[in-house]
Amino acid sequence: MEFQNTREFAKGLDAADKLAKYRDEFLFPHVNGKQVIYFTGNSLGLQPKRTKAYVDEVMDDWAKLAVEGHFYADKPWWDYHERFSAPLSRIVGALPSEVTVMNTLTVNLHLLMVTFYHPTAKRFKIICEEKAFPSDQYMIRSQVRFHGLEPNDAIVEIKRREGEHNIRLEDVLDKIKEVGDELALVLIGGVNYYTGQVFDMKTITKAGQDAGAYVGWDLAHAAGNIKLELHEWNVDFAAWCSYKYMNSGPGNASGAFVHEMHHNDLDLPRFAGWWGHNKERRFLMEPEFDPVRGAHGWQVSNLPVLSLAPYLASVEMFDEVGMDALIKKRDCITSYLEFILHEIDKEVDSTFEIITPSEPSERACQLSVFLHGEGRSLFDYLMQNGVITDWREPNVIRLAPVPLYCSYEDMYEFGQVLKAGILSHKK
Ligand SMILES: *Cc1c(COP(=O)(O)O)cnc(C)c1O
Repeated sequence: MEFQNTREFAKGLDAADKLAKYRDEFLFPHVNGKQVIYFTGNSLGLQPKRTKAYVDEVMDDWAKLAVEGHFYADKPWWDYHERFSAPLSRIVGALPSEVTVMNTLTVNLHLLMVTFYHPTAKRFKIICEEKAFPSDQYMIRSQVRFHGLEPNDAIVEIKRREGEHNIRLEDVLDKIKEVGDELALVLIGGVNYYTGQVFDMKTITKAGQDAGAYVGWDLAHAAGNIKLELHEWNVDFAAWCSYKYMNSGPGNASGAFVHEMHHNDLDLPRFAGWWGHNKERRFLMEPEFDPVRGAHGWQVSNLPVLSLAPYLASVEMFDEVGMDALIKKRDCITSYLEFILHEIDKEVDSTFEIITPSEPSERACQLSVFLHGEGRSLFDYLMQNGVITDWREPNVIRLAPVPLYCSYEDMYEFGQVLKAGILSHKK
């Protein structure tokens, strides 16, 4: 499609957009009395209007039923997590038995590493990406130390080549080959939080497993954003937070995936708790742990139902929209944003650089823009003028044109604000 940098053209795209009606389903902040252009759904998704009713329902059940709510609420609390299995499995490409919701993301990665990282004298190394999200770095290093190993010996980072912003698939595969028999685990962010690069999870998973390792993915920036086929790709495990693209609210519950092939392997270590115990016998208070055969078997505690409720609202909305429709708009609106950025760059003779891959298969709903020159003050200008983006050192703003609630006209409008901002800084 030939794009144009005009309001009419953007409005035309909105008029033809089948998902446009969902914009009204979200609550937007306002700056100077005007609804913002929201580019930080990759950090905290907006609140869907329907979410409050899901939370209120739990509050009401608690008020009216108290402890009886566990079994007699309309949506009983004791197996509330099972409501996620079908819709969430469709979002991440899994079997219903392979997904669960519990805890928070870093906690789940820790729990899953307990299961999938048991280093031996020979096989003890972990491959991850250079400059992974800080929580992942701390998590992996602390796990390695927990096993009495030195991070410098056990952690192998895949580096970007000199002068390049993204990691090459061939370099990941070469590194897996090189580490070979010593490789215990590959654990990478499926979509890089900083650049927005999407990794070829299918190929990397196979390569890691061929080398004899387990392969897990941190899907914080992938869930609700890209097409996942976790079951088909034979991924061993994965976890994601729900508050970014999945709009479940600050710090809310995390999703986790454990491949079916591991469900009956009772020799795999795990940190157990009563909510992972055989459902029929959970309240018999028996001493021996008998895990549910499925991802729910990794549950630990009684469910945080008030935190699951907003996530359920979101999962049901995603299920209604469908990932294919979402991805179709995502690609179009991201390309339109890219076009606008290039147009403005030409008009103001600026020097910013999009560091996200331009190849559509290697990116999703995010463009990371490296601002040369007046970076920080331009960012402040955007914020003061109702464009919510985020700033990452040294000089990058990340823009996520979330397809569920961003409009094409937002992209056009953003271009105008950006242009005014750059011109005012040039004076
Ligand atoms: C956002 C994000 C996290 C956050 O972890 P929490 O435990 O939810 O705080 C972890 N990893 C990646 C890659 C992220 O993008």
